[in-house]
Amino acid sequence: MPTTSKQLAEDLDRQDSLKTYRNQFYIPSGKKRAEQLYFTGNSLGLQPKSAQTYIQQELDDWKNLGVEGHFHGKNPWFSYHHFFEKEAKVVGANKDEVVVMNNLTVNLHLLLVSFYRPSSKRYKIIMEAGAFPSDMYVIESQVKHHGFDYDDAVIELEPRQGEHHLRTEDIVQAIDEAGDELALLFFSGVQYYTGQYFDIQTLTAAAHKVGAMAGFDCAHAAGNVKLQLHDWQVDFAAWCTYKYMNSGPGGVSGVFIHEKHGNNPDTLRFAGWWGHKESERFLMKRGYIPEPGAAGWQLSNASVITMAAHKASLDMFEEVGMDALVFKGQKLNHFLQQVVIDAQISNSKLAFEIITPEDRGCQLSMLTNENGKSLFDYLTANDVIADWREPNVIRLAPVPFYNSFIDIWEFGELLKKF
Ligand SMILES: *Cc1c(COP(=O)(O)O)cnc(C)c1O
Repeated sequence: MPTTSKQLAEDLDRQDSLKTYRNQFYIPSGKKRAEQLYFTGNSLGLQPKSAQTYIQQELDDWKNLGVEGHFHGKNPWFSYHHFFEKEAKVVGANKDEVVVMNNLTVNLHLLLVSFYRPSSKRYKIIMEAGAFPSDMYVIESQVKHHGFDYDDAVIELEPRQGEHHLRTEDIVQAIDEAGDELALLFFSGVQYYTGQYFDIQTLTAAAHKVGAMAGFDCAHAAGNVKLQLHDWQVDFAAWCTYKYMNSGPGGVSGVFIHEKHGNNPDTLRFAGWWGHKESERFLMKRGYIPEPGAAGWQLSNASVITMAAHKASLDMFEEVGMDALVFKGQKLNHFLQQVVIDAQISNSKLAFEIITPEDRGCQLSMLTNENGKSLFDYLTANDVIADWREPNVIRLAPVPFYNSFIDIWEFGELLKKF
């Protein structure tokens, strides 16, 4: 007996307390359908309709005020980053532990300048094998920059034979084994390929026990799962805002620096004028005095036009809150899983192994068989926007702001007809 039905999808949509938000986004139109079945909010979130108004505001202030916009604009650019203090709630932080600036990969390097300070004895980094490529290149270039050999300095952890994701206990054991040689544990919060949501709290505690730092790339976690970066004692984290946070291509990145480091002016960092003590920023004096908190890592004046799009999105997060988003995200994900299982029962051409463990956010990664690529092409031709990752994984991420249960049901109907 299938556990899903059109009726159930409709009921779930009717009960959905966030259902009106779909209308606040532009859903791209399909070739065959009025609206695509868009399941790649984990890659590029859709555009909030309000983004244009927010950007227009800054264009108008620039047009009408010129440089005066820094102090006399509606949202003065001088202190523009303060509008993003509520981002802290999205990741479970205190407001001065988070700042919004630059792009993600740039920020990872800046954070490693502060938090990867290897010595001849303590220089190793533990990370997951198959990390997102940018993260691999960041770590590779950082260890080389410090004069270490990659194979010696970096310990990449793989799942056990025959398994698709890492077990927490195995990561903890690797941390213990690295012991006082370990400088840094650097992991993603949610793995981009498998969708695994790592046990950040346990991993952080294990790293601290051996005297190492713990940092997380939360690109796939921010706006997707419930994070408590402050309480979990995470040392640093960064994320992009164009995935689950819907802030547009190349959108600005968020950074978390735990207050134990952020409020210590002696924490080493690369500095620029925008991180300087705000009340003296325009005095143009020599001698760097950092703003307390993560704001003291800023280099440049705010990239206001792209940040305006993020502001539009963040205001929606503020309105809804992570609890409601996570609640619906899990329901969508669970429904998707059931739909996939049901489709498989009714169509013997489908063979999926779901490789996303139970600890997850919105994403479901499905390992397919030799039919995988033709299935994916068939879905694409029918306006399902998912993504394909070599060798044969299809990733789908229905997201709570704009996906509906009916989206998922219709996806399942397409599967059955493959
Ligand atoms: C999306 C993503 C990136 C992208 O980095 P950019 O600097 O924003 O281009 C990096 N790391 C991870 C883990 C990602 O998921």
